[in-house]
Amino acid sequence: MLTHLDCTKCEKRYEPGRVYTFCACGAPLFPRYDLARAALEMRPGHLALREPTMWRYREVLPLAEGEERVSLGEGLTPLLPAPRLGARLGLPRLAVKEEGGNPTGSFKARGLSMAVSMAKALGATDVCLPSAGNAGSALAAYAAAAGLRAHVFLPRDVARLFVMETEAYGAHVETVDGLITDAGRACAAQAKEHGWYECATLKEPYRVEGKKTMGYEIAEQMGWRAPDVVVAPAAVGETFIAAHRGFAEMERLGFIPKRPLMAAAQAAPANAITKAWRDETAIAPLKIGYTVAEGLAAGNPGRKGDWVLRILRETGGVAGQAEDEEILEAQKMLARTEGIWAGPTGSAGIAVLMRLLADKQVDPTSTICVIVSETGLKTEAPPPSREAIAFDEASLRRLVLEKLGAGS
Ligand SMILES: *Cc1c(COP(=O)(O)O)cnc(C)c1O
Ligand SMILES: [Zn+2]
Repeated sequence: MLTHLDCTKCEKRYEPGRVYTFCACGAPLFPRYDLARAALEMRPGHLALREPTMWRYREVLPLAEGEERVSLGEGLTPLLPAPRLGARLGLPRLAVKEEGGNPTGSFKARGLSMAVSMAKALGATDVCLPSAGNAGSALAAYAAAAGLRAHVFLPRDVARLFVMETEAYGAHVETVDGLITDAGRACAAQAKEHGWYECATLKEPYRVEGKKTMGYEIAEQMGWRAPDVVVAPAAVGETFIAAHRGFAEMERLGFIPKRPLMAAAQAAPANAITKAWRDETAIAPLKIGYTVAEGLAAGNPGRKGDWVLRILRETGGVAGQAEDEEILEAQKMLARTEGIWAGPTGSAGIAVLMRLLADKQVDPTSTICVIVSETGLKTEAPPPSREAIAFDEASLRRLVLEKLGAGS
């Protein structure tokens, strides 16, 4: 029951049924629904009987009735209590939304199931995006399932497993010198030239709608209550915006009594949002350093980052950052205490939560849910210099310098 799309900045209105990217003013578009009707048709008690995928929340998703879903069974991942990790951190009510079990091993599956479904419904034949790895393999898998051609632009030093997997689905992979922003420029240029449907985060208005189902699931799995705090990893902020939107919608639908405090988790070498939030300034593009949390290595969140900041300021949310050593420590702790092996990017929320607790930004007695966004199975065995990261600061510094040298 998509009614229209609104610009998130100038409020210009767009009608459904056509391909959109950003608003004419440059800001992302925001799909809107008939929430009054959704509240009648989507009773919390009845939802339990629906299919065990993110598509159970169809009334608040943009695909029209009768249009084909491109689905691999994404969503309805477990919300796991984390008592042993909680005991280590002094948190009696800690839970983890374990997203590594999604198709292609990360929560990117939610957004790309939605985006590829919409692309197909809108008549696209070719889809494309820039990616640090997870979005690319997810796009490639859903495009294969939809019978569409996929074009994925990856930074050259991405883990080989991502390239192998993405090519296995039949996608065309282009590796680009530099960072994800460079891959983004290459992708946008070719999309324009060939008329491809662009699935870049928040440039494509529907990916975020797939991802917001994470918020719905957390509330449903808690008996239609929100946790006090939700920690979401933040590169450019799609996840953060999506989770916030899910909870805000549920509040308006009358499904939950109150929204959680949202915490944005960043890697210290890519902390544009955290820095702007702390300094109470606008987002300034950063020249980022290497981080083991490769999925968080975004230096210029642009207008999407502005949107995250606005949410943080309007709702009293918090932002935090963690160093690589802390992220690797959190990754190890999560595996050893709870039996969950996530990649460094997927573990960053735990590391940032530890920082937020130390800085007294989060009350340790509250109910806290951390989004663990990816499996650890695609993280390659680190080469000797990388293995040293966890133990030896001098080699970490050397590695960062090497990476910076390679990137320039
Ligand atoms: C993409 C990604 C993120 C977060 O990126 P946003 O653009 O801020 O949503 C976090 N974790 C993983 C594993 C990712 O692939
Ligand atoms: Zn606008």
